[in-house]
Amino acid sequence: MNSVLSTLKLKCPKCRKGNLFINQNPYALRQLNKMNKCCSNCNLKFVIEPGFYQGAAYVSYALQILTSIVIFNLFFWFTPFTINQILIMICISTIVMTPYYVVLSRSVWLAFFVPFDKEK
Ligand SMILES: [Zn+2]
Repeated sequence: MNSVLSTLKLKCPKCRKGNLFINQNPYALRQLNKMNKCCSNCNLKFVIEPGFYQGAAYVSYALQILTSIVIFNLFFWFTPFTINQILIMICISTIVMTPYYVVLSRSVWLAFFVPFDKEK
């Protein structure tokens, strides 16, 4: 599994096998953000230091903005939708994608700091 795929699948960045979250489904909202303490495969601690995942908010923000820009340009230039209709679509996509982006941003943030280890 390559690094992008393992990040998208919310896997440990070091071994790419262990699950980051207790419930890997981000739409199980009661367990959103509940991470395993360490990797079940390589024993990597997922919380490196207190407040480590505050930086993930910036990743989440960037993902939301990028999605909004893509949706806007796709529908503005290639479909007859009005700007108001496109803005409603962006709002809906933001609401629908937020749980996934919350967990994905943590996965991306951890992958920034933890390199892949082939031996694990
Ligand atoms: Zn691991």
